[in-house]
Amino acid sequence: MRYISTRGQAPALNFEDVLLAGLATDGGLYVPENLPRFTQEEIASWAGLPYHELAFRVMRPFVTGSIPDADFKKILEETYGVFSHNAVAPLRQLNGNEWVLELFHGPTLAFKDFALQLLGRLLDYVLEKRGERVVIVGATSGDTGSAAIEGCKHCENVDIFILHPHNRVSEVQRRQMTTIFGENIHNIAIEGNFDDCQEMVKASFADQSFLKGTRLVAVNSINWARIMAQIVYYFHAALQLGGPVRSVSFSVPTGNFGDIFAGYLARNMGLPINQLIVATNRNDILHRFMSGNQYVKETLHATLSPSMDIMVSSNFERLLFDLHGRNGAAIAGLMDTFKHGGGFSVEQERWTEARKLFDSLAVDDAQTCETIAEVFAQTGELLDPHTAIGVKAARECRRSLDIPMVILGTAHPVKFPEAVEKAGVGKALELPAHLSDLFERDERCTVLPNDLKAVQAFVSQHGNRGKPL
Ligand SMILES: *Cc1c(COP(=O)(O)O)cnc(C)c1O
Repeated sequence: MRYISTRGQAPALNFEDVLLAGLATDGGLYVPENLPRFTQEEIASWAGLPYHELAFRVMRPFVTGSIPDADFKKILEETYGVFSHNAVAPLRQLNGNEWVLELFHGPTLAFKDFALQLLGRLLDYVLEKRGERVVIVGATSGDTGSAAIEGCKHCENVDIFILHPHNRVSEVQRRQMTTIFGENIHNIAIEGNFDDCQEMVKASFADQSFLKGTRLVAVNSINWARIMAQIVYYFHAALQLGGPVRSVSFSVPTGNFGDIFAGYLARNMGLPINQLIVATNRNDILHRFMSGNQYVKETLHATLSPSMDIMVSSNFERLLFDLHGRNGAAIAGLMDTFKHGGGFSVEQERWTEARKLFDSLAVDDAQTCETIAEVFAQTGELLDPHTAIGVKAARECRRSLDIPMVILGTAHPVKFPEAVEKAGVGKALELPAHLSDLFERDERCTVLPNDLKAVQAFVSQHGNRGKPL
């Protein structure tokens, strides 16, 4: 499988190189040159497979030529073996023909484990083969950091540095990062906000001289391997509910357009999906595009669903590429307009095409709390605020009650006690067994000023299993 850039100017890469790349050299994102397509018979024959075996069948075409089947199978069995629920991604019924796909049974209780548990193992496998080491520098406002650290903590060939804004992540989220020790794990609290952290990561990709030749790898969802891993659970859910004979709909809480883009790919790979609903919080750039053809940057609002608090959706570029007939020059032009003017619209027929593919809704904090309370009253199930946004959007945008509606349950409610309290459902939340002593554990973290040079100096001092690069 070969991968090409959405801006058309970077060299095509194989899976191994895409795994180790950040942005393409032309500033674009990598996508498969040709998407694999499965027949209905093929998909039907996968019914009842354990999660890791289904994952093998869905992802195999993407890694062909880079990872032999037997090795890939082993990696997948290990990856999904660490999830605490035997079904890995179980479905829970909320209402007639309405289901939550619980994606929070991984080590850090959010769906990001599906991709980052795999990414860590893939990196180690590929680096071992090449005899190389890499450094990861990532920024997090919460869930990505802990999932990336959990995914890479056993990696022999990876040193991971996670930047979070000092005193601006929740205590659960901070402790999920700072209580994991290893000579290759480095938590840095920046005296600044999330955007400051992200800017430092971007600047480090642009000028890597501080790494003295060691390669820098991306862990946010611009990394193709993360999107790839998320395609699998759409197939998994649909197969449980009568797919591919029956078509299924999905409602997806999204900020960066990563998770929902994986659903779009699943549909293009042959899975019959009826509706794909983009569910955003008040930071609604995606909803404004879907409903009014305006892709325009606005100020950031802090919400009760912080993992979707973004101004710009980086993966949206991958959809735009398809909407523009995979014309890289057109995307480079649009992105340039966006960079300089803060927004754009697309041609009418391209927008009409997007409208056929997606429905959308923006849900504010008050509606989020109402939905948590409503679902608790109806079923006794406690939703996290991100999942609640998905449920609200599903109920508002649904076109047919005969078609199963699956809401992606992106996090465990225990991670977001503030929203649950505000919803007034007052159910005591307990951390799962593997995290029950989280608040008693020692923490390890370095506080650094909001200064790129200081951060880069720290990375080069500690980037080789705690020793200088
Ligand atoms: C990251 C995250 C999201 C948004 O994911 P996208 O890839 O932007 O769609 C939603 N919910 C939770 C809990 C998250 O951690």
